[in-house]
Amino acid sequence: MANILGSVVLQSTGPEEVGLRGFSGLIRGILFIVFLLLVAALIASAIALARIVIQRLQVVNAARIERKRLGLPAGHRDLPYGRGICNRCQGAYEMVFFLPSGERVCRHCYLESLPPAPSEPSEPNRRIPS
Ligand SMILES: [Zn+2]
Repeated sequence: MANILGSVVLQSTGPEEVGLRGFSGLIRGILFIVFLLLVAALIASAIALARIVIQRLQVVNAARIERKRLGLPAGHRDLPYGRGICNRCQGAYEMVFFLPSGERVCRHCYLESLPPAPSEPSEPNRRIPS
């Protein structure tokens, strides 16, 4: 009788222990999956951030190339431009800048209105003074 009771107790505690072990294993598994998800999210956000930075750099570079193509100084703000008549010299041009003041000026008048650049990096083959 005692033997039977003992076996019943053993049987009842046995699966509980296994269940507890399984439960902690489950928690460990969940924690591991959460950890993996966090790492994946971190990597994904790092990639997204890198993409944004690269895109910004490309935009800045494109603006720089466009500025160079138009022959404008480095300090030039990116102004909208199009065909039109210059308000200062009254000439018709393929490209006039639409200034924020509403004025439309050709490239020549625009460059004349700018303060002189502190340095001329575009000057080719500058001689070293001896
Ligand atoms: Zn002009």
